[in-house]
Amino acid sequence: MEKGSGENGATPKKPRITPIKRTPAPEQDQTTAATMPDLSNVSIGPDTLQCAICFLPLEPPIYQCKNGHPSCKNCLAGLNNRCPSCRLPIGEIRCRPLEAVLAGMTIPCAFAKNGCHETFKYTAAASSRHHRQASIHEFSCRHAPCECPFDGCAFAGAAANLFAHIKAAHTHTAASPAAATFSTPPPVTSIDRTPVRLPKCVPFHVLLREDDAAVFLLLNGGGVPKGRSLSVVCVGPERDAAELYTMAVSGGALALSASGSVPCVRRWVRYPTEGFLFVPDAYWSSSGSVSVTVHVKKLSSEEEAV
Ligand SMILES: [Zn+2]
Ligand SMILES: [Zn+2]
Ligand SMILES: [Zn+2]
Ligand SMILES: [Zn+2]
Repeated sequence: MEKGSGENGATPKKPRITPIKRTPAPEQDQTTAATMPDLSNVSIGPDTLQCAICFLPLEPPIYQCKNGHPSCKNCLAGLNNRCPSCRLPIGEIRCRPLEAVLAGMTIPCAFAKNGCHETFKYTAAASSRHHRQASIHEFSCRHAPCECPFDGCAFAGAAANLFAHIKAAHTHTAASPAAATFSTPPPVTSIDRTPVRLPKCVPFHVLLREDDAAVFLLLNGGGVPKGRSLSVVCVGPERDAAELYTMAVSGGALALSASGSVPCVRRWVRYPTEGFLFVPDAYWSSSGSVSVTVHVKKLSSEEEAV
């Protein structure tokens, strides 16, 4: 018999803490679903989740000052643990409700508007932004726009569309009226039909691979003394399997050749400064061109491991 629980209702001196049981009645469960707003398509203003220090999406762990201004923990060290908004101390109060909201959030691929349906955890995406990396998926997303390399052409589209665009807009067949006006060889050929004749003055030659609608560029860079630098890139998202190119140039006293892995770029902006085949001026014939053979093959996983 406990003391103090008499008829007069006096409270015991040492109150007991009884956990409150919250067993909802079955009918309550059903009404909750009906009264909760539909949160399946919530949109948030772009600045709402931005850290006031790094201007990137807030990355947990998140701390807040007494006024409730949130910041990424990693950003606070550089500010001597002072809130960037109000200068109050910050670094003691963890902002767990916001962390919980972020942990439950998914966001679409950056190329959703181009047709990608992939979604990711917000926290994974925030972390990759902080480390200045696109997510692994965004590197290889096949909906990511790839830019046409031709000067003055503004086309950008998914890799398969770029392939179709180059075929339609930049390929001059013998029958096309444009061919008659071109004194240089066509700038686009099938990769199965090398060697190509590469004029010294053209910045690149496009090689199309029909099997998987892939676009390769045989780059013809200047900037090296007494010759040119040749290399190969793929214009498209990163591929599941690495690819290896081999390239051979004939024209001089010796045949020159090189091989290497094919980098993938969605926008070609520069020539590689390392890993190119140097073709001395003497190799370019009197007409100013060389004959280049290019082969690209996928590496098997065993070959990649070597
Ligand atoms: Zn930050
Ligand atoms: Zn503050
Ligand atoms: Zn995607
Ligand atoms: Zn174009």
